[in-house]
Amino acid sequence: MILSTSNLNCGYGKILVAENINIHVKQGEIVGIYGPNGAGKTTLLRTIAGLLRPLGGKIFFAGIDITGIPASERVRLGIRYIPDRGNVFRSLSVEDNIRLVHAGEIDWDKFLLKVDRRMPAANLSGGQMRLLSLAMAYYTRPRLLLLDEPSQGLFQRAKHDVIHVLKTLKEEGVTMVIAEQDAEFISKLADRIYIIESGIIKKEVLSNNLENILKLIH
Ligand code: ATP
Repeated sequence: MILSTSNLNCGYGKILVAENINIHVKQGEIVGIYGPNGAGKTTLLRTIAGLLRPLGGKIFFAGIDITGIPASERVRLGIRYIPDRGNVFRSLSVEDNIRLVHAGEIDWDKFLLKVDRRMPAANLSGGQMRLLSLAMAYYTRPRLLLLDEPSQGLFQRAKHDVIHVLKTLKEEGVTMVIAEQDAEFISKLADRIYIIESGIIKKEVLSNNLENILKLIH
């Protein structure tokens, strides 16, 4: 098990947003956290990344209790959180964004980035920005990617590209936890999906049957 949480409570000050969360992620898996707006997905991912202090419970990563350690230490252990709008520096060129973290050769094809690498990242489309975020994260050699709604705001074609790139990273052994509210998107990617509603994990399902997932929700 690379990641597990034990009775994890997440929230803000006295406000409990996600309660008694017990999830586990194996090395190399893609695990989905699927639920509607406001269900607590972002809060949960930010707590695992160390950006929010847990209100209770424990988080284990690669056999270590990381509950109390700062976000910077978690980064050193290989945990990367990618927010829904990505994390690119808009004023830097496309290539310089990657150069911040990687000096060697860049495999542009792997990330489907067929763009002018000298232009500011601000000129990229939403989908291309998401792909650049993934490339940046990849070149930091992550052990665990925490992706917050990677499909958000994207057209079908761009979603397809993001799915393709994430599948390639999975083939290379990168473990991922993906928060999503797009059932079709997450069912194409995840090995298993936790369904979260109002801050509570309601079910754990295999993702090979989208209809079953949707029946469980609605
Ligand atoms: P979304 O798709 O909107 O991001 P989500 O499932 O990621 O949904 P969260 O963003 O984790 O949900 O929000 C869960 C709840 O936490 C919401 O009720 C939200 O209002 C509340 N919340 C979020 N940020 C804060 C904050 N800084 N302080 C207090 N409550 C917050």
